[in-house]
Amino acid sequence: MDHFEYRDGVLHAEGVNLVELADTIATPFYCYSTATLQHHYSVLQNACKQVGLTDTLICYSVKANSNLGVIATLAQLGAGADIVSLGELHRAQTAGIAPEKIVFSGVGKTDAEMAAGLEADIQQFNVESLAELDQLASIADRLGKKARVALRVNPDVDAGTHEKISTGKAENKFGIAWEDAEHAYAHAAALPSLDPCAIDIHIGSQITDLAPFKTAFEKTADLLARLRAAGLTITQLDLGGGLGVPYQRNNETPPDPLAYARLIAENFGDSGCRIVLEPGRLITANAGILVTRVIRSKRGQAKNFMIVDAAMTELLRPTLYGAYHDIDLVQESNASTSMWDVVGPACESGDFLGLERNLPELEPGALLAVFSAGAYGAVLGSSYNTRPAAPEVLVDGTRHDVVRARPSYQDMLTGEKIPDWLTD
Ligand SMILES: *Cc1c(COP(=O)(O)O)cnc(C)c1O
Repeated sequence: MDHFEYRDGVLHAEGVNLVELADTIATPFYCYSTATLQHHYSVLQNACKQVGLTDTLICYSVKANSNLGVIATLAQLGAGADIVSLGELHRAQTAGIAPEKIVFSGVGKTDAEMAAGLEADIQQFNVESLAELDQLASIADRLGKKARVALRVNPDVDAGTHEKISTGKAENKFGIAWEDAEHAYAHAAALPSLDPCAIDIHIGSQITDLAPFKTAFEKTADLLARLRAAGLTITQLDLGGGLGVPYQRNNETPPDPLAYARLIAENFGDSGCRIVLEPGRLITANAGILVTRVIRSKRGQAKNFMIVDAAMTELLRPTLYGAYHDIDLVQESNASTSMWDVVGPACESGDFLGLERNLPELEPGALLAVFSAGAYGAVLGSSYNTRPAAPEVLVDGTRHDVVRARPSYQDMLTGEKIPDWLTD
């Protein structure tokens, strides 16, 4: 469900006409919808309430879309944050998320990141190895702090998703092997500056079937019982993110958040634990589009190319994962269509946004919308070919604000210099 709709043949983001918006903000730009962000957050929150999960904390996974405006919108609804770096800690706090709602994930936290998290007194560190436990313990010792710790255990389930976004299998770099979990908890419990009070799992991303969650939750419930039997006080379960979303708007039924919540309630409803969820994509993917203009079209011998002003530098997912995104005209048209590859100007053969799409032949300047670009879009952007980062625009009803401006070419050179020996 999103709030991008055609009115009188023109795509609108909520009450904002995108043809008019594109006249004031040069393309390409991202456009996010506040109402859609709010809707996705509350669907999940209400699903939890509906199944009787009373103590839940939704920690939005900041890496999916870390724009301050987006985080602040979610913070206002009561969201916490799941972060994976010091930079994201800074963003989350700047956007108004209280430290007691922040969980710190990630396989490679540095000393500086651990120290900053401890100093900020964040809710929880999700720890992925014995060595990381020891490192966190020694830093907490030094700072005179006690760290609340979840061990990220790897339930060894195949999330049935793309290999680059699957994280819960035994061969992945993430987490502690299932067989080693109890030993790792005993290790943590013996370190006075750590409080191993939580279990964490996160099995992958864009999971479109509930079965892998079911298996992972059942294994986690079993581990919870064994840890409690061993005398540990576990009060929190962090079930990660990963719930999939439809990338083909008219042709996909993603897992129902209510069924997901029911599965959580079935496994953990009477555990007495607070449930932490870390959704990223679910909240932001379909709350954002990428607006781009046609530069020119080019009919080739084997293929037709629609060359647009957005590229893999704005949306890497098609290039990186072969991911599919709907691409539609901003102004509807009845012109006859043919097959086009929609490609960007970046100097890479892999630079495409969509292959073999049915579109009319468009004039230079025509506007296209690439849908589901709100998650893993801007955050995976790059300035390859010295392309300035595309602006991000947040819409709320009939108003909009540019929540990240396009840098100037001069801005882009900030921090760079010609070495002294060439200028003396
Ligand atoms: C990426 C990530 C998430 C969010 O995943 P989505 O698929 O966007 O919901 C949550 N938790 C952890 C640990 C992650 O790495």
